[in-house]
Amino acid sequence: MAANILLVEDEPAIQELIAFNLTQAGHHVLRASTAEAALTLVRNALPDLVLLDWMLPGASGVDIAKRLRSDERTKHIPIIMLTARSDEQDKITGLESGADDYITKPFSPRELLARIKAVLRRRAPQMTDDAVEVQGLRLDPITHRVSGNGGTIDLGPTEFRLLHFFMTHPERVHSRSQLLDQVWGDHVFVEERTVDVHIRRLRSSLETTGHDALIQTVRGTGYRFSTQQ
Ligand code: CA
Repeated sequence: MAANILLVEDEPAIQELIAFNLTQAGHHVLRASTAEAALTLVRNALPDLVLLDWMLPGASGVDIAKRLRSDERTKHIPIIMLTARSDEQDKITGLESGADDYITKPFSPRELLARIKAVLRRRAPQMTDDAVEVQGLRLDPITHRVSGNGGTIDLGPTEFRLLHFFMTHPERVHSRSQLLDQVWGDHVFVEERTVDVHIRRLRSSLETTGHDALIQTVRGTGYRFSTQQ
């Protein structure tokens, strides 16, 4: 599981140490020392997760978390707050500001990586390497294999990501623009009808094993992966 992680930490030694450990674990790290620098990076590209130090010069980590949560584009980014404070009240304030989790310094790299994995699994299951299976349709992110009732299904890279996203976010309607953001990437200029083209390809690949009916068109809205008719 390699994630793009934005690390916001003003103490150079701690920033260096955390960045080193994240990189060792296979993550890509973007760094910022201030709220302003962090928000600029987020404007350029959405990270998969933000590690946010509470005490920063100027705007605090809590302020940044609130800003991210109040913007439609950034409100779903998973946030883990890093803090030297261990008071129960501070923890509550941190979580109320929109953080998904809260780690008190000092923490071990192992603990940090475990928390990142847990938050991604909860908030962005398509980021993890867990295999998913629905009604005999199985997708394994590690081997990059898809099978239907045991038989191999060949998918192109985009169809693979699309199916992975659908399988990890079932029973919800996704608009074309949401699918573009989640599957093609933020700020990518692709026409919405491109989504329809790839959905068509995905369905035709799933036809042989009869799993194409799992990809449903929701008229006027978008698409849904569902086991219900
Ligand atoms: Ca600090």
